[in-house]
Amino acid sequence: MRRVIVVLAALLAVVCVCDAVKFGQLCSGNPENRRRMSDTWGQGHYGARRGSRSHQGLDIVCSDGSDVLAPFDVTLNGKLTVYSDANKAAINSGINLRGAGLCFKLFYVNPDRTSGSVRKGERIGTMLPMQSVYRGITSHVHVQMCDKSDPTEYF
Ligand code: ZN
Repeated sequence: MRRVIVVLAALLAVVCVCDAVKFGQLCSGNPENRRRMSDTWGQGHYGARRGSRSHQGLDIVCSDGSDVLAPFDVTLNGKLTVYSDANKAAINSGINLRGAGLCFKLFYVNPDRTSGSVRKGERIGTMLPMQSVYRGITSHVHVQMCDKSDPTEYF
């Protein structure tokens, strides 16, 4: 009997690994969470070069004005400010979220609300007008983990 339990526990552990956490759709025009690749402003992957710094998130393609959607059942933990630069005021907001055991931030989103909870797939805000600040860029939502670790495995 004990051996059966051990085997079952091992099988369950394998099942849990296979069922890894993945982000659901983030942006209304991008059902497969397509990533920003290379454009005249840079690249969208984690660790991409940003001058002397490195990119601390992953960029998911999202046209200006699109609906931004909850990628999990989430709780909303307040608005955030992306830049201190007044020239970027048009795209300066985002939101802090928690869901599926992850703590993360979405940049360049004007949130509908900043507290409470939202179901997976429901709207949480609007993609800000990124083209007005970075003309010609691939407009995108920036996904950043609270601890600044690499979010790529969740996509
Ligand atoms: Zn980014």
